[in-house]
Amino acid sequence: MPLSDEQKDRYSRFLRLTDVHEEDMELINSTNIGVIGVGGLGSSSSRLLAAMGFKKLILVDPDIVELSNIQRQLLFNTEDVGKKKVEAASINLQKLNPQVEIETYDVAIQSNNITDILRDVDIIIDGLDSFKARRIVNEYSIEKKKPYVFAGAVEYYANTTTFLPCSTGCLNCVMGDAKDNSEMTAASIGITPEILPIVTSIQVREAVLIATKKKPNLFNKLLSIDINSIAFDIFEIQKNENCEVCGASSSKE
Ligand SMILES: [Zn+2]
Repeated sequence: MPLSDEQKDRYSRFLRLTDVHEEDMELINSTNIGVIGVGGLGSSSSRLLAAMGFKKLILVDPDIVELSNIQRQLLFNTEDVGKKKVEAASINLQKLNPQVEIETYDVAIQSNNITDILRDVDIIIDGLDSFKARRIVNEYSIEKKKPYVFAGAVEYYANTTTFLPCSTGCLNCVMGDAKDNSEMTAASIGITPEILPIVTSIQVREAVLIATKKKPNLFNKLLSIDINSIAFDIFEIQKNENCEVCGASSSKE
């Protein structure tokens, strides 16, 4: 759909970029994003996704806003403490950009609800803090051939990559049998807030590239960020042909 005069004004500085055309903004404005987890990662990415002008955000998180969230979960204000995260997120995102549709689910993503919750989603943005949940998202991404922009952050470090079903490997190819470790969470070893807007900005950049039919920068690449020493390292990653989820012998493909 052509951009309205208000949209042309709202997105004018982005549209001013020499390699960005109105058609690109129209594509962004017709793309639905699923943000799974609206905590440290998801509250930062969803704020940027809404401001950017995506069509609809589908937010999934079962948690309540706590005082210990406010320092790093930039979507929430102190007055939101005690509210459901997805409800506070929806109100604050709607204030930020009333043109974006927001759909919320105050549940944990599970294999028995993911197909229904993400039915309209074009691109999945990872805001999770557990491998168990990420594996459910990864299998859904392969099954439905929907791009999955992974991210994880703890302490001073973050990792992110983009999985394109049929083109790149998947989470299982890269992470193998990595499991959740309760001693390695932000709650137990901490996290510095500044790492989150950096890694989520890169996730949103990947989503913009996918939505505008360009090759994502993290195609078969894993970006590792260390905010303590300002180190950005890129590692080549590849599909594991024997992967149980996306490999040749997998029944999912
Ligand atoms: Zn795989």
